[in-house]
Amino acid sequence: MSRSDAQRAKPKRSLGQNFLVDENYVRKIVSALDLTDRDTVVEIGPGRGAITGHLVESGAKVIAVELDRDLVPMLRERFAGDDNFSILEADATATDFRELLNAELNAASIKLVANLPYYISTPILQHLSSQRHLFQSLVLMFQREVVDRIAAKPGDSDRGFLTILVESAFDVEKLFDVPPTAFRPVPKVTSSVARFDPKPQVIDDERAFRDLISIAFAQKRKTIFNNLRSAHPEVKEILERSGIDPQRRAESLELNEWLSLFGALR
Ligand code: SAM
Repeated sequence: MSRSDAQRAKPKRSLGQNFLVDENYVRKIVSALDLTDRDTVVEIGPGRGAITGHLVESGAKVIAVELDRDLVPMLRERFAGDDNFSILEADATATDFRELLNAELNAASIKLVANLPYYISTPILQHLSSQRHLFQSLVLMFQREVVDRIAAKPGDSDRGFLTILVESAFDVEKLFDVPPTAFRPVPKVTSSVARFDPKPQVIDDERAFRDLISIAFAQKRKTIFNNLRSAHPEVKEILERSGIDPQRRAESLELNEWLSLFGALR
């Protein structure tokens, strides 16, 4: 497919394709990455290359991962003359970033940027959390409600699996909102951009920790005791010993309480 064919190709709703067309926001996103020509940057879902063009111009080495096989040839053609650009046609939620980046030993730092569709927010954050140590920082754009959910404080009803998953893995700073008019097609919702700085690992088995959180939030209206009792018959005593009232709901617990509960259950 030639570039003009691809440009004309209809955006695929099934892949969450709302392309960024407002250059001001593209520049703000790229400047949040603070790239130098000694960095390597991974871009998930380059789409029609709105952000990618600026990444390539920065001189950093750009590795794009795009799932849409109709867009990949267009991007290859557009950046054919740029030897700091490469692209992998793949599903980023299943990409082994360690393998993808194993030749990047000389990079000053490795960063990641993505404007992500709603439907992959949880799987991609789960995947990136487990591979976060590869990256110095990540600048991610999501639908605003996803960023609100990530930032939800204890007691807030938005606080859920995604909040604790992200809080245990990253320091998050919300940077700015992006209005629907900055995209084509125009979505119904506002987006938000946030920087995610990986935290060191303090949990020995992060997968088991995620399983605990997932069960604890399975039915948000139930108490933490009721959610956990069948998976962990001894949970009542452990909650009491950890100083956590078994009648509390999962959304009221702070990260430190999750960590001590997890430690006590093992
Ligand atoms: N970065 C472009 C921009 O800002 O204009 C496109 C953003 S668009 C919201 C999301 C992009 O992610 C699309 O190009 C879509 O094809 C791609 N995408 C969706 N799911 C993906 C996945 N699992 N792995 C890699 N790319 C994916």
